[in-house]
Amino acid sequence: MKLEPGPGNRAIREAVREFAQSTVRAHAEDVDRRHRFPQESIAGAAALGLLGMLVPAAYGGANLDHLDFTICVEELAQACASTAVIVDVHNSVATEPIVLFGSDEQKREWLPRLASGEVLGAFALTEPASGSDAAALRTVARRRGGDWVLTGRKVFITNVGVAGMYLVFARTGPEPGASGVSAFIVPADTDGLRVGQVFEKMGLHGSPTGELVLEEARVPAANLLHAEGRGFAVAMRALDSGRIGISGQALGIAQAALAEALEYTRQREQFSNPVSSFQGVGFMLADMATRVEAGRQMAYHAAALCSAGEPFTREASMAKLFCTDTAMDVATDAVQLAGGYGFIEDLPFERHFRDAKALQIYEGTNQVQRLVIARQLLA
Ligand SMILES: Cc1cc2nc3c(=O)[nH]c(=O)nc-3n(C[C@H](O)[C@H](O)[C@H](O)COP(=O)(O)OP(=O)(O)OC[C@H]3O[C@@H](n4cnc5c(N)ncnc54)[C@H](O)[C@@H]3O)c2cc1C
Repeated sequence: MKLEPGPGNRAIREAVREFAQSTVRAHAEDVDRRHRFPQESIAGAAALGLLGMLVPAAYGGANLDHLDFTICVEELAQACASTAVIVDVHNSVATEPIVLFGSDEQKREWLPRLASGEVLGAFALTEPASGSDAAALRTVARRRGGDWVLTGRKVFITNVGVAGMYLVFARTGPEPGASGVSAFIVPADTDGLRVGQVFEKMGLHGSPTGELVLEEARVPAANLLHAEGRGFAVAMRALDSGRIGISGQALGIAQAALAEALEYTRQREQFSNPVSSFQGVGFMLADMATRVEAGRQMAYHAAALCSAGEPFTREASMAKLFCTDTAMDVATDAVQLAGGYGFIEDLPFERHFRDAKALQIYEGTNQVQRLVIARQLLA
């Protein structure tokens, strides 16, 4: 089991860092201000192979392990958090379930297109009345002849409107809760599928998030992913490793905020000295750096366990909890250390602060992570 990034990981980090710091970072501010999809960055990510990170080489993917994947997401998030979440969701919760649970036919049909970036993926679990209690979802799928017909409404779907494939969770049986849920691969051009409201958000302005409406959306029976009634297991497995990716997003935002705070406090002078020379400031920087480093070890540890086929649910939840709280705290302290300039849009501090908040909420709020960790401890 690899606990430390090895030479292979370092080479991947260097390659992604070069791309992220040159191309992705150059567009980050404009993407945020204009609330626009980072088309150039996503095209560049596709060209680098970053849209098929967890896909086997046989299907055109890069066949990276979860440690490499986490590092790549971390590097992207350091440059642009919107780009990172688009790429992360596409690779992890949208594509990885097809790698893990897809039939040979589903893999042949979808993985090469997802890995090349021809098709972006999205994961549609949350509904207006079911967020943390995801098993209470109400979207239904009824069998009609050789097809499944889906009706319902999903909310907060990342990549909505730009995705070519939605992984949709719907109720196929009368059983309440998790056991009546199945997963479906639903192409975006399916009749009866439409995008509803696309939300204006506090942060992550380049990443579209919104409603997906299914009105008698008909897909062939072959689009059922895994077995009927096993959809909740698919969703939970996707979210388990997805949370390691979110940790990578958090580390990237935190690292960017820390680096900018270091630079700013070295340059800014008050009382005839750089503010970094004041012990009160130095202690804040020390705490920020310590938390980022601790989070990195936790995320890489969870990623290594996942790649090694070991149980990793608890470690992934711990990493998500710690890394996303760290991102929020470090981004908040970075705003503080930039003083009034931290609060205005000319500098990136306030963007990191707005972007970081979402990470404490999605793929299971941090209260839900505590539920998962406690359940694992008490099992
Ligand atoms: C930017 C963004 C992108 C997203 N992308 C996706 C996506 O791609 N696909 C998708 O399916 N979903 C997505 N989501 C949805 C996200 O996963 C949910 O918002 C999240 O799971 C919380 O659900 P909720 O918003 O309904 O909050 P609720 O479940 O209503 O929770 C409200 C509050 O109650 C707390 N709470 C709830 N239950 C408990 C409990 N048992 N114990 C303690 N506290 C509890 C919560 O932590 C929260 O603070 C996204 C959300 C955001 C903000």
